[in-house]
Amino acid sequence: MPKPVGGRTIAQRLKSGESLLDIIKSYETHNAKLASKKTEDMWFHEKLTRGNALHNLKKSGAQQGMFLVRESLNIKGSFVLSIIHNSEPQHFQINTSPHSGCFSIDNGPPFVGLDQLIAFYRGGCNGLPTSLTLSCVGYVLRPSLRQYGENTIVHQAIDEALDTATFRKILQNPKCPNLNIRNLSGRTPLHEACARGLNDLILELFKYGASIQTRDSEGSSALHLACRGNQPETCKILVKHCHAKPQDRRCGSGWVPLHEASYCGYQHCIETLLQQGAACHPRCVNGETPLDMARKRRHNKCIQVLERYQPPKPHFSAPNWLHSAVDRYKAVELLEHAGLGDGCFLVRISKRNPGQYVLTMSFDKNVFNYEIKNRENKWFYIDDGPLFTSLDYLVDYYCRFSDGLPCELSGPIPSVARNQLPAIPKPKPKPKMDERPPAPVPISHPPLPQKPTHVSNSHLPKPPTSTQHGYLPGAPNSASGLREIDPKHVVLGRELGQGEFGSVLMGVWTSPGSKSVPVALKTLHGEHINTGETEFQREAEVMMGLNHLCIVKLYGICRGETLMMVQELVAMGSALDYILDYPSEVGLADFKLWGAQIASGMNYLEEKGFVHRDLALRNILLASKQLVKISDFGLSRAVGAGSNYYKASAGGRWPVKWYAPESINYGTFSSNSDVWSYGVTLWEIFSKGDQPYGNMTGAQVIQYIEDSKRRLQQPEGCPDKVYKIMLQCWAYKDSERPTFRRLHHKFRSDPEYFNIKVPGHKE
Ligand code: ADP
Repeated sequence: MPKPVGGRTIAQRLKSGESLLDIIKSYETHNAKLASKKTEDMWFHEKLTRGNALHNLKKSGAQQGMFLVRESLNIKGSFVLSIIHNSEPQHFQINTSPHSGCFSIDNGPPFVGLDQLIAFYRGGCNGLPTSLTLSCVGYVLRPSLRQYGENTIVHQAIDEALDTATFRKILQNPKCPNLNIRNLSGRTPLHEACARGLNDLILELFKYGASIQTRDSEGSSALHLACRGNQPETCKILVKHCHAKPQDRRCGSGWVPLHEASYCGYQHCIETLLQQGAACHPRCVNGETPLDMARKRRHNKCIQVLERYQPPKPHFSAPNWLHSAVDRYKAVELLEHAGLGDGCFLVRISKRNPGQYVLTMSFDKNVFNYEIKNRENKWFYIDDGPLFTSLDYLVDYYCRFSDGLPCELSGPIPSVARNQLPAIPKPKPKPKMDERPPAPVPISHPPLPQKPTHVSNSHLPKPPTSTQHGYLPGAPNSASGLREIDPKHVVLGRELGQGEFGSVLMGVWTSPGSKSVPVALKTLHGEHINTGETEFQREAEVMMGLNHLCIVKLYGICRGETLMMVQELVAMGSALDYILDYPSEVGLADFKLWGAQIASGMNYLEEKGFVHRDLALRNILLASKQLVKISDFGLSRAVGAGSNYYKASAGGRWPVKWYAPESINYGTFSSNSDVWSYGVTLWEIFSKGDQPYGNMTGAQVIQYIEDSKRRLQQPEGCPDKVYKIMLQCWAYKDSERPTFRRLHHKFRSDPEYFNIKVPGHKE
């Protein structure tokens, strides 16, 4: 530990009469000074939308390999790496492991700091399309996200082993720094306290929010460090009172704390861990168990403890869960009968590999199968999990620790009860019930439970409440029918995205005598006042007359320093950004629901006599994963009386890839041409945000559709039925395309979508 700030310890400074607040502030100032001297480049951009990331990258030159890291607006603690490759931006989600807090991209290695991750991808492509080169300048990375952070006052307090009362005062002080910052040696205060066995201070740290998950710069947890420091009592406290997990692996080597203790020869730590329920024979990345390590290093006492260890008597014996005559369909049937509760399970004999067993369990209303392997007829194990001397011990262990399964096992299905079950109709075989091994026991990638393929009623959006939807205090108050909102009643917040004429900001609108409403403020910046005001005003007028759950609502316009549209805030922002940033978070069930909801909103628009003219996934916003809203009415027009199409008289931005042939050729727009765009939007959704027609130019797209009579291809994983709908939307003759009414009905009446309901839709 380096010298304390000010050259004297905290205890000495307090004794000489200095206040605790002044001491805390002196550490803060000292660290701020050090941070300001950092010459490293600043690629970190805090919370930023995908659109703004692109904007910043372009502004900085957008050279090959230029990059930035931004924080997700929607998922707390999640980050995205945006890179320029072949002049185009690409975005990669940086996963944060819930078990270790380590960062990784796809199946790449885990890193404890974002700086370490960036350094790795600067050194070579390592699976990315290009290695990282220049950074797009933002802010200095927060110390809590670095592999090596700074020495805080809390680190110093641990170094001095301050008395508990004074230590608590530091932690209670509102100016106390983040407790999970690693110091210059790469350890948090909790790590330092565990290595030294400062148990009282450990409990205080835990009480005041120190994370037990955070790893040191080498990927070890607090429990690993307690073992390495030979602190058996600390090990006990960590597991019993701080929820430390004895099965958590060290990043890289895959050592669990028991490996650490065996390697060092600390038999008391081994005994404590085993008493706390740790598996006796876990395997690290190279397959070694703690016993192998103790033998290699001749730690005889440790060998004895490990060899003589007898696990506790299992809570459930085999008749409680072993079903020798059940196949996988019957297993699913039994679990379904039991209600598919989380952790409900049974063990059966594998038909595919006679002599092997399979664990079948339910989680999140899905069924999972895990092969239980058997080595030398002595060791039972799942995937690369610990070895057990019997099936009973294996089941008992997974009843206590999930260790790679989606959850702990809890409710066994007794084999004796199964004859008493009433007859059940034969279940349909479900593709996801393959007998597949579990995902590797997590170092940093826990298996994500698969989402159910149906949408239950509880997922449906709640009916609108008066403050969220359609609530406009008072009547329109301008000649154009637009409600004018007093700038005094609007508070501006952070930026949500970049619009064509200015930025879109978050805000709060408080009209006198009513509740505050969170809003999105679409601004018209000064430089666009002349060119954009008419467009802007027209968009507002179109939106003002619309009131449907799947269409973004306009509350009014506000003439402050800039002209602003005050709109309903759609919390999760652009659906396209969301799909691209979190492809694994969304699936077919969500896509079908979105398809139905967009059709419902468009049907409403058609009934009101409007054509949208810019229907595309970039203009769909997500209120939640179960509710989309159509936005961006900048190109929308009311169709004239006696006609059902609008003819554009001026040029301007034309999203040709979304346009129907008649719109491209003759500039005519109708609800039928919106249906074509709807087909392209569906295609974008089901291809998880791919660019329609790849890199083709507008002219090439026209040729592709007109001359070759070709259409966008079926996206991978897109159901045939949905692709058929797309093809119908792309009928060359506009009269042959389905109407939005029919499209919405199609989604609703198909048994596959039976659960999809769109509130507010008129039957
Ligand atoms: P423009 O039509 O001028 O291109 P958009 O309406 O597409 O602007 O808005 C740009 C970005 O701002 C969107 O991609 C989205 O991230 C954000 N945004 C726009 N409207 C809202 C809203 N009502 N709620 C939340 N975010 C919004």
